[in-house]
Amino acid sequence: MSRLVVVSNRVAPIREGKPAAGGLAVGVYEALRQSGGIWFGWSGEVSANPQTHSEVVGNINYVTLGLNKRDYDQYYRGFSNATLWPIFHYRIDLARYSREEYDGYRRVNVMLAEKLKPLLKPDDIIWIHDYHLIPFAEACRMLGIRNRIGFFLHIPFPAPEILTAIPPHNELLKTLCYYDLIGFQTETDRLAFQDYIVREVRGLVESDGSLTAYGQNFRAGVYPIGVVPDEIAKVAESYKGRRHPVGRNTEGGPRKTIISVDRLDYSKGLLERFLAYEEFLDRFPEHRRNVEFIQIAPTSRSDVKTYQRIREQLESEAGHLNGRLSDLDWTPLHYLNKSHDRRVLMGLFRAANIGFVTPLRDGMNLVAKEYVAAQNPADPGVLVLSRFAGAARELTSALIINPYDRIGMAEALDRALRMPLEERKDRYEHMMRAIRAADLDAWRDNFLRDLRSFVSRPKDLS
Ligand code: UDP
Repeated sequence: MSRLVVVSNRVAPIREGKPAAGGLAVGVYEALRQSGGIWFGWSGEVSANPQTHSEVVGNINYVTLGLNKRDYDQYYRGFSNATLWPIFHYRIDLARYSREEYDGYRRVNVMLAEKLKPLLKPDDIIWIHDYHLIPFAEACRMLGIRNRIGFFLHIPFPAPEILTAIPPHNELLKTLCYYDLIGFQTETDRLAFQDYIVREVRGLVESDGSLTAYGQNFRAGVYPIGVVPDEIAKVAESYKGRRHPVGRNTEGGPRKTIISVDRLDYSKGLLERFLAYEEFLDRFPEHRRNVEFIQIAPTSRSDVKTYQRIREQLESEAGHLNGRLSDLDWTPLHYLNKSHDRRVLMGLFRAANIGFVTPLRDGMNLVAKEYVAAQNPADPGVLVLSRFAGAARELTSALIINPYDRIGMAEALDRALRMPLEERKDRYEHMMRAIRAADLDAWRDNFLRDLRSFVSRPKDLS
């Protein structure tokens, strides 16, 4: 069997118990842990004299590079996170564009491909992850790398009208077509991509379902990223006897718990969520003092301006809410910016009556799946889920809300807290069937099976 080489922007050797705040890191790690192989990408180091490191942990060889300040600013902080991220999450209002940053993004992709090349064997399968690395395959082809190369987009793919706000959208999408296989989280994302290819650049949908554009023939498919449900259930259950600071498992603590876990990001709908919780406490005062909301939100990308702004807004709203409603013996909102060990999170999920997952846009949202998988089947909690999370396509038995509807969210919290056991069990079982049908193994195996089997026409590099 050919070796798997995974490339993603950020690589951090993962050891058991270490928090990895991010769906990509969790998903890729779980996928590589079983097959073994190379994980190649940026170490997180920014310095004038960036170093390359190689470290084997278990069956994974982590090969990491540093970036210099200019590359970091242009490729990572600039084009990736201040142009692509907001636009792919439908936030043109928060996006900026700079040609220099775009050039830096292209340059770093070429540099990474050059560094990867000497590590490759001819029959390696290369799997590239996410929006930082869209032009990676083109760079590989230009360097004469002939291996199979697949790409998975972890975030949403926007409607063409939104995408075309990026000035070099055409050039960028052309580079994407150098992959043999392009994977998306949902059918909506795949269709948006196909729409762009067919309508913007007059590409073709071939009779075998493959696409042809810019002289390239490639395939686009849907591979929803999943979790490992049995492992989550085991970890969550092993926390059963421990005391939690809050929650229904706390001895002597009858209060019900609502939990949310997100990277601190404007796409996650945190402000709308806090406001909806406040609305809930105002509209249904009988729940006051009987419920607590824990929001875990480790900071991310804190040197990008838009992230500083959302953080300030959240601190202001959290302070306002608690200041207005707290009592000496009751704090309605626990807002924590620390990142937490996954095992602790799974225990908290199991102890919480409601998983409150309300992004404005999200590629998938693994937390939604983890919350469900962590539940006690005999007495499961309720998932309240945004229709704009990719996970809502599979978890149709969650209480689906629209995060722009504050009162609707408040009503969903009330309904979830009152939901009878039978209904909670029915919804949980239905969701677990979906989670098992599209677990992490299925994500990896289906993607790699399609990447291995696809025979594209000869590449035209002109
Ligand atoms: N996570 C974690 N510790 C934290 C916060 C999050 O381990 O303190 C994990 C969480 O359990 C989930 C992932 O990070 O597996 C977040 O993935 P998700 O798809 O929900 O969101 P993303 O951060 O990729 O946008």
